[in-house]
Amino acid sequence: MSSRTSSPPSQTSTATIESTDELWNAVLAEAEVEVSRPNFHTWFKKTSLAAIEEKVAHVVVPNNFVKEWLEAKYKRFILKTLRSYNREICDITFSITKPEAALSSRTQETSAAPANQKQTKDDNSSKEQSLPLEPTPYKESGLRPRYSFSSFVVGPSNELAHSAAAAVTKQPGTLYNPLFLYGGVGLGKTHLLQAVGNHLVRTHKDKKLAVRYISSERFIRDFVSAIRTRTTERFKATYRRVDVLIIDDIQFIAGKDSSQEELFHTFNELSSKEAQIVFSSDRPPHEIPSLEDRLRSRFEGGMIADIQPPDFETRVAILHTKAKEKGASLPDDIMHSIAEVVEQNIRELEGALNRILSHNILKKKDQCTPKKVQEILRASFAPPPRLNLKEIITTVSEFYDIGEDDLFKKSRRQDIVHPRQVAMYLARELLEMSYPSIGKRFNGLDHTTVMHAHDRISKELSVSGPVADEISGIKSMLRNLRG
Ligand code: ADP
Ligand code: MG
Repeated sequence: MSSRTSSPPSQTSTATIESTDELWNAVLAEAEVEVSRPNFHTWFKKTSLAAIEEKVAHVVVPNNFVKEWLEAKYKRFILKTLRSYNREICDITFSITKPEAALSSRTQETSAAPANQKQTKDDNSSKEQSLPLEPTPYKESGLRPRYSFSSFVVGPSNELAHSAAAAVTKQPGTLYNPLFLYGGVGLGKTHLLQAVGNHLVRTHKDKKLAVRYISSERFIRDFVSAIRTRTTERFKATYRRVDVLIIDDIQFIAGKDSSQEELFHTFNELSSKEAQIVFSSDRPPHEIPSLEDRLRSRFEGGMIADIQPPDFETRVAILHTKAKEKGASLPDDIMHSIAEVVEQNIRELEGALNRILSHNILKKKDQCTPKKVQEILRASFAPPPRLNLKEIITTVSEFYDIGEDDLFKKSRRQDIVHPRQVAMYLARELLEMSYPSIGKRFNGLDHTTVMHAHDRISKELSVSGPVADEISGIKSMLRNLRG
């Protein structure tokens, strides 16, 4: 590919920029405004404009993945922006600076890829550790077979995360390391992480790839218990010998110093032998509180992709997929009415579908109308109206049958502590109050106490169980406050 600078256009408008660098900087500046931060970082950061030849702009990108993505998603935007500065330009090509290193040839070349993790000086890797090992039995991998790429519905809200996850399965360890997916509760993080693991186990049977999926809480718990039983060497060996380490909900490692230290060393060891690491979190690395800087920079050293709540069409597609998995089917208008009620959480969307599938309304054909379906679902799934803290406090104390003042007492009794944590969690989630301001309203609690409460309830909500039912009960009462 030629790297000649642009041939000056014969006829120029006043806005024309002739230097390719300047022109590309202008495009990047507009892209930065146009797309989200992770998107910009991933797709635009390491690109350049090599030349404009015969009305065609030649854009250089770091790897194939970026090439395909820019071609599919951003070509029109880029062309339009380029043309706003130079009307002569009629087309764009995307090409890669250097050929991508194949999975097997593990050269430093791949550092051209935006997400490639640099080798660290402070690791103490030894090559012996990357010798082939016995395959981990599937049972011990922590994977569950129901999560696959084929059962994952792709839409605009999750396509970046999905593509990145799929790309990792094609070039584990080299392309995007680590892969860091983040997004709200019930949006498919665990599903994608598990799909990566399952796919790698399935496609690398002969290579005996050791894959390990674990939640961060389990990692923390096991590490603490290893310290207690003096088996840290075994613990270290378990995690440092894998080829693929997948840690879910990594945000819970916040404030856990010894586990963070252990994770840091595990990370270095694994990335030095190009083992693939995948994390999920409910927020991006820079928003995880009490996280060591060195760990944060490791998390940010690879590919970061977000997952947003699904749009209407994706919700409908997910409903159809889930119904099919259960061997059921519902008419389109009923699916639409379910998708209209539940917007923010795919786990709840499934819950709503199950509610309808098990409801006896389905037996009475003439009564099963979209309106009736929405009525059934609204009580438990519709988002609560705008609220204030007073209403949350009243409702929570009513729900748990305690006095409102009890919520503000400095009591450690579990029947008080838990409702208080729930109230603080809801203040954060529904009112978007900051941790310090919640602390202030709860009798001057420290913001770290509020954070801890929020994390604890979030953790319990990440699995279905009594707390999930409590929160949904309280939300349903809050909804009824305003009719
Ligand atoms: P998270 O880990 O982000 O809280 P999960 O991965 O546990 O969310 O997803 C919650 C539920 O929603 C799971 O049953 C999962 O299979 C389903 N789900 C989420 N996203 C999708 C999707 N895009 N397609 C199909 N099912 C999905
Ligand atoms: Mg999860």
